[in-house]
Amino acid sequence: MGPPDPILGVSEAFKRDTSPKKMNLGVGAYRDDHGKPFVLDCVRKAEALIASKQLDKEYLAIGGLGDFTKSCALLALGADSEVLKSGRNITVQTISGTGSLCIGANFLSSFHSASCDVYLPKPSWGNHTPIFGDAGMQLKAYRYYDPTTCGFDFSGALDDISKMPEKSVIMLHACAHNPTGVDPKPEQWKEIADVVKKRDLLVFFDMAYQGFASGDVDRDAWAVRHFIEQGHNIVLSQSFAKNMGLYGERVGGFTVVCNDAEEAKRVESQLKILIRPIYSNPPMNGARIAATILNTPDLYKIWKVSEFSLEWLEEVHGMANRIIKMREQLAANLKSEGSTHNWQHVIDQIGMFCFTGLKPEQFSVYMTKDGRISMAGVTSSNVGYLAHGIHAVTK
Ligand code: PMP
Repeated sequence: MGPPDPILGVSEAFKRDTSPKKMNLGVGAYRDDHGKPFVLDCVRKAEALIASKQLDKEYLAIGGLGDFTKSCALLALGADSEVLKSGRNITVQTISGTGSLCIGANFLSSFHSASCDVYLPKPSWGNHTPIFGDAGMQLKAYRYYDPTTCGFDFSGALDDISKMPEKSVIMLHACAHNPTGVDPKPEQWKEIADVVKKRDLLVFFDMAYQGFASGDVDRDAWAVRHFIEQGHNIVLSQSFAKNMGLYGERVGGFTVVCNDAEEAKRVESQLKILIRPIYSNPPMNGARIAATILNTPDLYKIWKVSEFSLEWLEEVHGMANRIIKMREQLAANLKSEGSTHNWQHVIDQIGMFCFTGLKPEQFSVYMTKDGRISMAGVTSSNVGYLAHGIHAVTK
């Protein structure tokens, strides 16, 4: 018998609890202010449009739906991207972010012959370890989170990166770092990009929260675009689980930025060979929804006029803002409970998660053992109880 999954195991314990005040802050899925799962209006509209077209259910290509992969890359790299203009990227549709990371890890394990070391931030998303480990990569770590400040350990990270063996792979969370909610500032990203360049490292960006961190899809893609502008040929994983609320639809993308269009063709051929025996080709429904919302040759222009796309951006903004508001209310409630701790990190951390610094405790509040809570599970009606519980265990 294997052990239960650390995050999904929390959901099971939550289900067994009979307390009416129970709260599940373990799983990273957005909830509305009534604590209910949320389907975006633009998704509902796209579904209706797709249904009205009576489309067929033929297999997609191995690399997925072309309308989707094109706009997926455009969303990440931006309309002005030189990479897109020169066609030196290959983007394939994947089984959400996890599938993208898995394809990426296996691709690098076979073709990045210069090194099989992959450096993850300490800590990183729990699934990164088995994904890269199972692909045959050697797992290493660099300093990232500073528990004394509940913030980014910038000097520790730079120091560790500057000592990485040349050509190693470095995993960077593009925005809304999971589990810590701590991101480098733009000036810090710039310095990281310089040191990464000096060490000639291969950057693997995991972008599972574009738009979810700040509410602005361009701002959240800033680090990815900056690295590319600085001449880094990155690989990139994207997920549409959070920013379009398409969790169970499993929509994602994997991109390799190559030296030129010729190389992109060769990489594409190898990605197809890798994907074919695993799942043959990806599922179409979620990709059709995302493509309907995004699809246009010029994302920026159409976003200003397209009903779907503008609506999507407004809804992403709405989700991000609700979480930001809950951060402020949680900190304010802790203060009014009489807590004298400094809870500024609850406000400062970014995205879906908050690394509270709490130890595992029982208050019918379910979180992962490392003290991570999903801010998306906090609502106007339970934020007071949460503050009360946190204060009780941190007095
Ligand atoms: N990377 C990170 C950092 C994540 O937090 C997640 C979602 N928890 C993922 C990737 C992938 O999620 P999914 O497979 O649902 O897209």
